[in-house]
Amino acid sequence: MLSKRMSLLHPYVPGEQPKDRDYIKLNANENPYPPSPEVTAAVNKFLSESPEKLGLYPDPDSGDLRAEIAAMINKTGGVLSRTETSFSSDAAERDHGAASDPIECASCVPSEKDKIPFTVVPEMIYTGNGSDEVLSFIFFAFFDGDRPLIIPKFSYSFYPVYCGFYNIPFCPVPLKEDWSVDDKKMVFEANKMNSGMIFANPNAPTGVGLSRSQIRQMLLNAPKDKAFVVDEAYADFGGESCIPLLSEFNNLIIVRTFSKSLCGAGMRSGYIVASPEVVRAVTTVKNSLNHFPVDAITQVACRAACRSVAYYVNCAKAVVKEREKFTLFLQNHGWKVLPSQTNFVFAKKSGVSGQEAYRKIKEDGILVRIFSTPGIEDFLRISIGTPAQMLALQRSMEDL
Ligand SMILES: *Cc1c(COP(=O)(O)O)cnc(C)c1O
Repeated sequence: MLSKRMSLLHPYVPGEQPKDRDYIKLNANENPYPPSPEVTAAVNKFLSESPEKLGLYPDPDSGDLRAEIAAMINKTGGVLSRTETSFSSDAAERDHGAASDPIECASCVPSEKDKIPFTVVPEMIYTGNGSDEVLSFIFFAFFDGDRPLIIPKFSYSFYPVYCGFYNIPFCPVPLKEDWSVDDKKMVFEANKMNSGMIFANPNAPTGVGLSRSQIRQMLLNAPKDKAFVVDEAYADFGGESCIPLLSEFNNLIIVRTFSKSLCGAGMRSGYIVASPEVVRAVTTVKNSLNHFPVDAITQVACRAACRSVAYYVNCAKAVVKEREKFTLFLQNHGWKVLPSQTNFVFAKKSGVSGQEAYRKIKEDGILVRIFSTPGIEDFLRISIGTPAQMLALQRSMEDL
């Protein structure tokens, strides 16, 4: 009964979600903070004032949402943890100086380092049902079965899964000694086979990032007529976004998500920032497969999230602060911690196996992630939670 292509499928295994007990979940890089109050208010308003809209198809191209995403990127430069917030005098005046709700009054400006030298317009944004779906449409639109796709040996494990799904061979490139993506070797392999490439920056599960100037060098030397995809799921936590490079490179495709820095993993929303030609191509895939990928409630929720981005700036800063504290704790207890630019850390301790550490922590009611892939099986990938959650984890890890 099964099709032949079913035998090629090797599905992705997400972080576990056991129901037997109320675990502290630090295994899926979710954000420990809830969406902004504006998101809750917008969804409540939508449901109470226009419930009939749930009976109608949503805007297939998320026009308003794409405009709000573009505006958010222009305000933040694509890195929330470095975005500067300040009280706008307008809002303060409107509130008679009583800035009762600092979130609503705050305006955002990118840090000097993150300024984008052009305006991101809605035609450069494509939105989908989570960045996982967006990635799959990119694989369909830009990668063929006639040459291997270049991916880092350790990166987001969904990339090889999509290669299996679309029957695309891939060439895994080992990481460098310091666990960073090997920029030169990636480009070398891409040129050898005239191939496209994809990697996460900062990378997962390592947390280590390349700088924008390193990626610019890669783009200068890689094939110009092949897609060069940078997955920026974690860029908001202190990496360097490649968005400023879009004016120079038409083959650059940047993928981002609401799931991590925008506290919206349950809303299922991800997006592309790229040239309008890329957006049109992916839209063609969408219109051939799933015409309405972003549902009406998610569009309302995500638009409100973009408008209240100052709230998420504060969340990202809180996560980064906690990450630095937790890194120190681990180092003081003999762990090797890779330098993270994300909302998780990747760490191991000699003499302690990944399985052993994972089991002990789980017994104490906390879930972290381990991988069975040879080479990283003794590392724990630990998502950064609230200060209270991290304190509980520290107690559990103290005697490991
Ligand atoms: C979490 C993650 C995604 C998936 O995000 P969704 O938008 O929730 O589908 C994509 N890429 C990387 C590297 C991730 O870590």
